[in-house]
Amino acid sequence: MTIHAIQTGTVAVKAGQPDGGGRRRRSLARLFADRRWTEPLPILAWVIEHSEGLIVVDTGETARATEPGYFTAWQPYFRLGVREWVRPDEEIGPQLRRLGFSPEDVRWVVITHLHTDHAGGLAHFPDNEIVTSRRAFHEARGLAGKMRGFLPQHWPAGFVPTLVDFEDGAFGTFPTSTRLTEAGDVHLVPTPGHTGGHLSVAVEDGETLVFLAGDASYTQSLMLAGRSDGVAPHPAQAVETLTRIQRLIAERPTVYLPSHDPQSTTRLAARETASATVGSSSV
Ligand SMILES: [Zn+2]
Repeated sequence: MTIHAIQTGTVAVKAGQPDGGGRRRRSLARLFADRRWTEPLPILAWVIEHSEGLIVVDTGETARATEPGYFTAWQPYFRLGVREWVRPDEEIGPQLRRLGFSPEDVRWVVITHLHTDHAGGLAHFPDNEIVTSRRAFHEARGLAGKMRGFLPQHWPAGFVPTLVDFEDGAFGTFPTSTRLTEAGDVHLVPTPGHTGGHLSVAVEDGETLVFLAGDASYTQSLMLAGRSDGVAPHPAQAVETLTRIQRLIAERPTVYLPSHDPQSTTRLAARETASATVGSSSV
């Protein structure tokens, strides 16, 4: 199964954000006061060439995010905690066309969570079925959603995604999941922590699992270390999620692909599995 990485620009966050520590969140004020930034990190989205149609996982960021007034003005995170660089030709729509695809080829657009760097490209899929978790949608709506750092004001008018509740039983180490495809080879699993309703996409490609992790962790090494990020509202759940993923990759060769890991694209190209990394690093 061919899977494409699509990079929709870059994002930098405060140096302390990717590795926030363990089960308790540190002070956000201290995180924002730090003058150091990460290097520009990729903002990745994914396109799976499936026999039932293309599956897009996350839509990346929009170039509008670089214009004044795009972010909620009173939300401190946008003023103090994040910088983004996206050109119009880097948005997912033009990039899909460059790969030879059109939005009509897309059967499902799955959103791991509704932060703008994952949902900013929704406007490129006006007629497609958008799928996310019920909790991901509800936590991002309205004023409460804005306070949590989502930008529902930029969703397409009348945005009504298909909401999943993970009612198709266990998958691997996950007690609940939703099967997306008829073939039963693409699974949506709840990976809460970074946000309450966060989901990840597990693609079975023969023996190998390709795990599109969203922001379950910022890098593979932070997943292996079981470290939650520095802005997660539910850090204890994040650590639980990462433990579950660690157990999954111990069971089965898994290519682990977070949305902002600078190594995700090369790992996908090489189909480099995380279990191999665990083995090699312990030698
Ligand atoms: Zn996020």
